[in-house]
Amino acid sequence: MARIVMKFGGTSMAGTERIRRVASIVRRQQAAGHEVAVVVSAMAGETDRLVNFCREANALHDPAEYDVVVASGEQVTSGLLALTLQSLGCKARSWLGWQMPLRTVEAHSKARVETIDAPELVASLERGEIAVIPGFQGVSHDGRITTLGRGGSDTSAVAVAAAIGADRCDIYTDVDGVYTTDPRIVAKARKQKAVTYEEMLELASVGAKVLQTRSVGLAMKEGVRVQVLSSFLGDDAPPADDLPGTLIVSDEEMNAILEEGDMERQHVTGIAHDKNEAKIILTRVPDKPGAVANIFAPLAGASINVDMIIQNVGRDKGETDVTFTVPQVDLARAQALLEDQRDAIGFNRIITDDHIAKISVVGVGMKSHAGVASTMFKSLADRGINIQAITTSEIKVSVIIDEDETELAVRVLHTAYGLDAAE
Ligand code: ADP
Ligand code: ASP
Ligand code: MG
Repeated sequence: MARIVMKFGGTSMAGTERIRRVASIVRRQQAAGHEVAVVVSAMAGETDRLVNFCREANALHDPAEYDVVVASGEQVTSGLLALTLQSLGCKARSWLGWQMPLRTVEAHSKARVETIDAPELVASLERGEIAVIPGFQGVSHDGRITTLGRGGSDTSAVAVAAAIGADRCDIYTDVDGVYTTDPRIVAKARKQKAVTYEEMLELASVGAKVLQTRSVGLAMKEGVRVQVLSSFLGDDAPPADDLPGTLIVSDEEMNAILEEGDMERQHVTGIAHDKNEAKIILTRVPDKPGAVANIFAPLAGASINVDMIIQNVGRDKGETDVTFTVPQVDLARAQALLEDQRDAIGFNRIITDDHIAKISVVGVGMKSHAGVASTMFKSLADRGINIQAITTSEIKVSVIIDEDETELAVRVLHTAYGLDAAE
């Protein structure tokens, strides 16, 4: 017997018909002799709808009240799944964030999980009850509802798995695993048998939204075994216990999988894209110590994450242009802050562009293999795709390009690194 956490995303929970299908997958998992806790998302589109209500009510919404509104989507689906499981003859109950409780710290709307008091939950599982937990929500130290940031149900699932000592955390979604790139963009994308925590963390952080970045970091830290798999397969599909999806594994486990010959190691594991960044150029900034600090200090103070930074070669008269990217949602705020500081920074013009995309190639193989970046630059150049900015880390190269060229760039790179599935 094992203890399993099963998480179902928004598409899997969209409507009572689909919830019935989820309930039957859950029942089958329990019937295989396991203790089962289920974490659910709101129905697809529901969180967006609730976010819009908040915007309409008050553009400068109070994050604490925003959390009260947006956390409700998961409350609905957790109750509905518990009801559906009961209708199938299972013992099931919902556990809201404040009932477990799942305690969080830091900012509303992007709270971080601190602790989960699991004894009551575990006792319930041991009595054979299925626990149904709304993802995305927690409770702050002062007793108010918090949410974990968009896509946060993945993190709820991993946190619950760590707290109850689960043997595995299965993330059920609308694709049957982690692919070499978004299978909705590249038909020839290939499903991976396994991906290391480190690679998945990097892929998620550069836009592969199949798992929330924080969920991967937490799984790595807590050593939670994660499998990504589909909830849209028929009754004759192989059981989750046979590991039909993609496993997120440690380096050691990956080496064992490679040694068994089940998989080949590629220099590049995956390609991701992100259309949610915007570019800012400040022209004619004084080329002297402290100038760059003057630009980024106010942005940091406002919790605006700056991603890529390029300081262009100094021009005449000790001036230079500084280019950087910020999340698109923060662009207006960043621009206003910089305008406020115009005199202190001493720039001439602000030029902004939110019609950009970040394309990233990720792979642990890059540590030991040169030439990954130059293949990227050459393949894009051959197709006439202009690179506006570049950053690299040990296992990643990212470039900024025109947003209209996103799909083309991803396809070209997928082929260039030999990732296309055989016809
Ligand atoms: P859920 O609602 O189940 O949380 P998400 O929409 O958050 O699902 O994540 C699943 C989606 O992630 C897929 O439909 C797919 O389009 C996208 N995706 C992006 N990159 C990848 C990748 N490398 N492998 C698989 N899916 C990916
Ligand atoms: N419902 C939330 C969202 O759409 C959390 C999640 O689905 O993971 O972001
Ligand atoms: Mg998701």
